[in-house]
Amino acid sequence: MKMKRKKLFIIIFAFIIVIMITYTFTYKKIESPKQTEITVDTITKPLISENSNVKPVIDEVKSVKEITPVTKKIEVDNNPKYKIIERSVVEPEDKKNNKKIVLLTVDDGPSSQALAMVEVFKKHNAKAIFFINGMHDVAHKGVIGKIKEEGFAIGNHTWDHLDLKKEKDIKIIDKEIDKNTDLINKITGAQPRFFRPPYGDTSPYVIKYVKEKGMIEMNWSNAAKDWEKSAREKDIFVSNAMKNIQSGAIILIHEHPWSLADLDALLTELESKGYTFVDPKDIIE
Ligand SMILES: [Zn+2]
Repeated sequence: MKMKRKKLFIIIFAFIIVIMITYTFTYKKIESPKQTEITVDTITKPLISENSNVKPVIDEVKSVKEITPVTKKIEVDNNPKYKIIERSVVEPEDKKNNKKIVLLTVDDGPSSQALAMVEVFKKHNAKAIFFINGMHDVAHKGVIGKIKEEGFAIGNHTWDHLDLKKEKDIKIIDKEIDKNTDLINKITGAQPRFFRPPYGDTSPYVIKYVKEKGMIEMNWSNAAKDWEKSAREKDIFVSNAMKNIQSGAIILIHEHPWSLADLDALLTELESKGYTFVDPKDIIE
């Protein structure tokens, strides 16, 4: 009897052991796939790249760290600002600014003189507005783009150099202005900011239209009168431009070969009288 009990005890004990082992294995079998699923779907997948490789996870983490220190540099423009008054003079926005200034403008290009003029301006650290006619671009392709690249402003002077005051058909007026704007926009990637009517001939309609198109209209106060034969002489060209000159003068010259020849003399004369040159980008209205 004693032996039977002992045997029974051993059998029960063995049975318990078997059950425990079976339970342990079964538990592992159930749990294991679950764990794998969690690892692959929930943790690994969203981190790795579409090419499903563990390495990109490391690369991604690294690149995030590299991006963090980048800071944006904001340029602050502290240049004095200017306004065009009565379509004929330039005035500092700050009345206390009493620096002697002139604004240089060159009409009727582009021509074969334009880029040589740019070089003369650069020598004097001067900027200018080149008021161009689209019709001249046909024979001088690429010039407008180069003037712009050198940091000069391209102004609208109508497509055909039409006298807008004499033109009665507003459709023609609009087209003369818009066609030129479109060309400048196409070449420079921006609308022209300045407009000058050919011969200085404007009208209430033109003034309103140009303003609506977001351009600043201007004529001039001082012309070198280089359309006159007498101004082909250096002294006359310079003295015409300097006549009664005051701070705020808008100086008009043209893209003539004789104007190019005398440009250096004019800029030297202006500097000797204490004038500095307004950068058109600082003109706000
Ligand atoms: Zn003109």
